[in-house]
Amino acid sequence: MLQIGKVRCDELLKACGSPLYVYDETQIEKKVEDYQTYFKSENFDTEIVYASKAFTCVALLEKLNAYGCSIDVVSGGELSIAKKANFPSENIYFHGNNKLNDEIIMALEYGVKTIIMDNMYEVDQVIHLAEKLKKEVHVLIRVNPKVEAHTHEFIMTATSDSKFGISIDQKDDIKEMIAKVNDSEYVVFDGFHSHIGSQIFEEHAFVAAIDKMIAFIKEMGEPTSVLNIGGGFGVRYTDEDTPIPTKDLCIKLIEAINQSLHTHDVQLDKVCMEPGRSIVGEAGYTLYEVGFTKKTQNKEFIFIDGGMADNIRPALYDAKYACDIANKMDQAKDYTYEVAGKCCESGDIIIHDAKLPKVETNDILVVYTTGAYGYSMASNYNCLNKPAVVFVKDGKARQVVRRETYEDQLALNEEKELQL
Ligand SMILES: *Cc1c(COP(=O)(O)O)cnc(C)c1O
Repeated sequence: MLQIGKVRCDELLKACGSPLYVYDETQIEKKVEDYQTYFKSENFDTEIVYASKAFTCVALLEKLNAYGCSIDVVSGGELSIAKKANFPSENIYFHGNNKLNDEIIMALEYGVKTIIMDNMYEVDQVIHLAEKLKKEVHVLIRVNPKVEAHTHEFIMTATSDSKFGISIDQKDDIKEMIAKVNDSEYVVFDGFHSHIGSQIFEEHAFVAAIDKMIAFIKEMGEPTSVLNIGGGFGVRYTDEDTPIPTKDLCIKLIEAINQSLHTHDVQLDKVCMEPGRSIVGEAGYTLYEVGFTKKTQNKEFIFIDGGMADNIRPALYDAKYACDIANKMDQAKDYTYEVAGKCCESGDIIIHDAKLPKVETNDILVVYTTGAYGYSMASNYNCLNKPAVVFVKDGKARQVVRRETYEDQLALNEEKELQL
């Protein structure tokens, strides 16, 4: 029987029902400690900003705060979880390419320290609202460095058709943004941000983007204290994925930053990075109970009691996962199965050609590395209830998010006449 954090998977399901998201707290802590220990330099301060869109809940944010991490949020919803966790507002960064007035007001009222401005249009909006509420806020400008990374390769893109950020070539527009901010009473310009993609395995793309950004800072000639190099560090989903260990990655990035600062004769007060997936991805496991198995002409299916509603990534990006039968960890994997969810979509296959021991009804299927973009992208498709989330550590387990109920879903069916 597989144990996670020294807790048996069957006992977790007995206590919390199936399907279930399980996080090994020790794995999260180890990642955070590595980032905090090795992303350090004598030449500038550093800050680890967790990208909370990967997975957020009160218990996780409390833990990250205890470890001295900051977070970024992309919506009023993510901010409201941060508020519920009493996350210190001075350690929150607010991102997004289309922040709503109400969201900016909410951020200013909570005292969010930094807003990352995504485009020209946002400058006036943020200045206006900060003045109206008489709230000071710092800003970074998100620059598209035109280094695009696709997992194992990266390209310097000739055009900039990303929906995020302002192109590194639009220097006059960026200067105008900074001038407007500098003229304003409540908004303070701190520096720049860039983020080049996700699930990236090699440091070369990051190094190229860092060097482009630091050269750009020199060329701009504006007093700049902060550079945020974004996130996107890859994790291991299957044996084909070979991420660089966090320690080595941090050391390489710090080296690259120092080298580039030296080359371009630039000084910075602080460099931030924004890991999301790499902090929670591998620490997360999803447990399912197996229902029926079915043979077709060429395939054998096993049906699980969840699927694309709790993990959309295989259907959305053709993402690959590894799995085991948690109650048959010692058996040879002599069979090949399609692991199919219970949603009404032919594409609801979590894993193709999974090698497993002979599977039977009531077996427990564990899917690995589901900690990032699983729960946070979960839906109520087919009106499935979102699973509970448990944290396990040293033989103890605690529920941190309860399972959704039919009543939760039914509560939204509320009719009323509209006053137009
Ligand atoms: C999504 C995102 C991240 C985190 O990406 P991961 O691949 O989860 O590390 C960091 N910064 C920004 C701006 C993002 O949009």
